[in-house]
Amino acid sequence: MSEHDRSVSENPYAVALAQFDQAAKQSNLDADLWEVLRRPKRELVVNFPVEMDDGSIQMHTGYRVHHNVARGPAKGGIRYHPRADLDEVRALAMWMTWKCAVMNLPYGGAKGGVAVNSSSLSQRELENLTRRYTSEIIPLIGPEADIPAPDVGTNAQVMAWFMDTYSMHMGHSVPAVVTGKPVEVGGSEGRSLATSTGMLVATDEVLRRQGTPVADEATVAIQGAGNVGWGALEVFGDAGYLVVAISDSRGGVYNPSGLDRAVLAEHVRGGGRISNCDAAGDLITNDQLLSLDVDVLAPSAIEGQIHGENVSDVRAQLVVEGANGPMTPDADKELWDRGVVVIPDILANAGGVTVSYFEWVQGLQQFFWTGDQIAERLSTHMRQAVASVWDLSVANSTSLREAAYSVAIRRVAEATRLRGIYP
Ligand code: NAD
Repeated sequence: MSEHDRSVSENPYAVALAQFDQAAKQSNLDADLWEVLRRPKRELVVNFPVEMDDGSIQMHTGYRVHHNVARGPAKGGIRYHPRADLDEVRALAMWMTWKCAVMNLPYGGAKGGVAVNSSSLSQRELENLTRRYTSEIIPLIGPEADIPAPDVGTNAQVMAWFMDTYSMHMGHSVPAVVTGKPVEVGGSEGRSLATSTGMLVATDEVLRRQGTPVADEATVAIQGAGNVGWGALEVFGDAGYLVVAISDSRGGVYNPSGLDRAVLAEHVRGGGRISNCDAAGDLITNDQLLSLDVDVLAPSAIEGQIHGENVSDVRAQLVVEGANGPMTPDADKELWDRGVVVIPDILANAGGVTVSYFEWVQGLQQFFWTGDQIAERLSTHMRQAVASVWDLSVANSTSLREAAYSVAIRRVAEATRLRGIYP
């Protein structure tokens, strides 16, 4: 049980372990390797003070977990969220291991988090918190050791402060210590929309392989309107899909004729929330969004949103997991039994870490690629990964999640076996 007393069905680490155990069993994973791959390699918990604008001091707790580094340096984002805790960070780190492996990137899996509501902080307080958290986890991070990136509640500006703090400690600029930075300080073209673009490529590929024509105007509902959800609104819209609904944590908006992006953007720029943008359509709850009769449902907010109690309401025929862990294993099984295809998180949202990998390579070489080069390489990586997962799922008559886990676990297990157990 985590510090926040989540029930087991809600606990993301319990979900991550259940998914791993099922896949390890199906892959006939050797019992010893099973034990090795099941556990996080190292976990750091830090308690640190942050000076607030009024001169007071607030204590915060942060985490950085390396799940597995058999295939390369640890890679994974940093989350600022009030519910961030050790179990959540462990789950997210484990999912990063499988995600990097399924994409065949030379990385292990990591994740970090700070339990904080970042929207309640001023920019100055956010910077203070970021710089202090960075300095607390310096023993673990570095361009050849562990490379963070943005996640829920963090963004390119936070990554710039992160990079600057690490660089100040080293005495020279180290852009490759973090990805998702602004382009002006060594970020990559295409990184901000990379996760959503990867979701689009994966969706197109799966629809094509299913023999479903990639219909112009296939309808899409998106839960979450952050980096991933808002990006999905843009890239799916640009590609000719009809995005009919989007939400934030308080609720969403639905328009069967398609959402007007300009109206939504204007509303948000003016300080409004998606959940009260009635100029764009009918206001709906997040539960209503998940049960809309659409072709594609893209849960792109946080974990545990589709679960045993609401899965029977899901009417989409294709679910694309923009978020990490948005579905519990019981819901996943029910959708599989009903013939609903789910593109699992470790594949569907892997465009972000793929372009992060490109950013890291560019940072190490100080040689930068064009937006077109990034887009082409991202598309190639995604299509190859979808192909290997799809083919295995067809060969073994399993879900795409089971196939993706199988590909990933085999790669990590093989790297572990080849490296051997030291000493
Ligand atoms: P973000 O902080 O930019 O946005 C999160 C969005 O989700 C916000 O719109 C928020 O209002 C909404 N939200 C929060 N709680 C919600 C709830 N209970 N119901 C509905 N909406 C809710 O975060 P992000 O970077 O877009 O990440 C979203 C998800 O995608 C996370 O699971 C993250 O781990 C995953 N992910 C992110 C990236 C990336 O590149 N940023 C890459 C891969 C996966």
